[in-house]
Amino acid sequence: MSAETYTRLAEEPLYVGAGWRPATGEPIAVVDPVAERPLAQVPSATAAEARAALEAAHAARDAWAATSPIARGAQLRELADLIGAHRDELADALVSEVGKPTPQALGEVQFAEELLRYSAEWDRRMEGEILPGETAGEVVHLLRAPVGVVAAICPWNFPLAVLCRKLGPALVTGNTVVVKPSEVTPLSTIALFRLIAEHASLPPGVLNLVTGGRETGAALVADELTSMVSFTGHKDTGKAIMAAAAANLTRVALELGGKAPAIVWRDADLDVAVPAVVTARHHNAGQVCTCAERVLVHEELLDEFTDRYVSAVESLRIGDPRRGADMGPLVSAAQLAKTEAAVATARSEGASVVTGGGRPPGEAFATGYWHAPTVLRDVTAQMRIMHDETFGPVTPILGIGSLDEAIAVANDSRYGLSAYIFSRDYQAVMRTVEALRFGEIYINRTLGESLHAHHSGFGESGIGGEDGKWGLLRYTQIKTAYHHYGQD
Ligand code: NAD
Repeated sequence: MSAETYTRLAEEPLYVGAGWRPATGEPIAVVDPVAERPLAQVPSATAAEARAALEAAHAARDAWAATSPIARGAQLRELADLIGAHRDELADALVSEVGKPTPQALGEVQFAEELLRYSAEWDRRMEGEILPGETAGEVVHLLRAPVGVVAAICPWNFPLAVLCRKLGPALVTGNTVVVKPSEVTPLSTIALFRLIAEHASLPPGVLNLVTGGRETGAALVADELTSMVSFTGHKDTGKAIMAAAAANLTRVALELGGKAPAIVWRDADLDVAVPAVVTARHHNAGQVCTCAERVLVHEELLDEFTDRYVSAVESLRIGDPRRGADMGPLVSAAQLAKTEAAVATARSEGASVVTGGGRPPGEAFATGYWHAPTVLRDVTAQMRIMHDETFGPVTPILGIGSLDEAIAVANDSRYGLSAYIFSRDYQAVMRTVEALRFGEIYINRTLGESLHAHHSGFGESGIGGEDGKWGLLRYTQIKTAYHHYGQD
């Protein structure tokens, strides 16, 4: 998309009811992470403008809930078709604002489309229950009702996939939605809404968009018109949202960060484990909640694994995300600074850098938020790098002597989202799966969840869970009807 297109998208960034409106709050620069230049200044919605979007969603709520799920499924298929038909331009917007390589951006757009198609399939599957009554002449009927108005608050690492992961289930189950994209990457979401406004036939108010950062998000959370906050982002933001939502007993679904361990057991096939961990650490420049953030390798394999891993990361192509790179820049100056600080702290605690360590050398990397793939050795289980989410291309590798030790180190975390196990020993795998306190475990493979499974964090990685049947039903509440028809 051209610079003019981004400027135009920013002019009227709020979609409320069925109309575009300007936002009058603080403008926030969306920065191209390769060129370090603003793509656009996107104004934020004020609290009053956020309220107007909630009012539109609230006004549309009852009529939308009264439509048949089959009609709602048809609307979702229309949205999915729209995404599919505009795959390239949406992916291009993702490359511009996130800095992810084009194939990854196209993959994200495809995932977004498939998430909507999967949710649409639930249009004919929503089931209730019929139970016997307490007395003769009575049956009890349990049915699924929508929650109401959902505030969908999204992060910057997968702007469109995370958005559609929320939109699909929320809409097919009969909720109306106000979306707030991350202030770091709002352009792809505005672009999608432009397509929806122009081509889709959703009734006015069912889907609304507000831009802005923390204050706009907080206004949505605090408002009594919000029935549910579906949030994906940092754990500290999740805690603030849960505290604020308590005031109105607003439901929350929180998908938060992770510190995934990758356990490479003694008998692991390194031809599988090395490339799988390299991808699991470097996809989207390490900015994925399921990324392998710490690698625990059996001592007998430590040297061989490390040598092969280092040579694999050194052969990754770092560079312009539009020109065949495996890894682009980090999304922002803040993410780069956070990654650099994590490496500096690890070094000060005694870790040694085997490769990388900071900005890659050369003129091509003088501008932009670049961080070289970095491998750390001589780490201990106590170091900060083994506990705080890095969200950048840094791999600490720790030797472990036993499966019990690996499990104990893996579980010694506030997070509990994803974990990886590499082993051909059935018993070791099953013992580890049973013992790990993580919501999503990958065995002998790299990252990438299935949209019909369940994506959920234990501990401080979240409350709720998305995808599949269980994620979808979270956007409903159970209503019980006692049918007393009596007896003659
Ligand atoms: P963030 O928490 O900084 O921001 C996420 C969203 O919350 C943004 O839209 C932001 O404007 C908004 N926000 C900030 N403060 C708010 C407040 N007080 N009230 C309401 N909204 C507020 O997160 P981020 O930096 O955009 O994303 C990175 C984080 O997201 C990482 O921790 C990552 O692991 C996590 N993440 C988790 C998943 C998952 O499915 N579990 C997926 C992607 C990202």
